[in-house]
Amino acid sequence: MARRTCPSCKQVVEENLKREGNVVIKSCPKCGHVFVSYEKGKGYISTSTNS
Ligand SMILES: [Zn+2]
Repeated sequence: MARRTCPSCKQVVEENLKREGNVVIKSCPKCGHVFVSYEKGKGYISTSTNS
């Protein structure tokens, strides 16, 4: 799990991870702000805990 400060609601939140096919979306669970989204298999993803 990863924590970060949401630029939208200014709270420290745990990223909400959502997968839609090959696309992974990390968003704020409080306000829904999207931190980052990327497509798997394009080399953008770093090693992450996959649990
Ligand atoms: Zn937020």
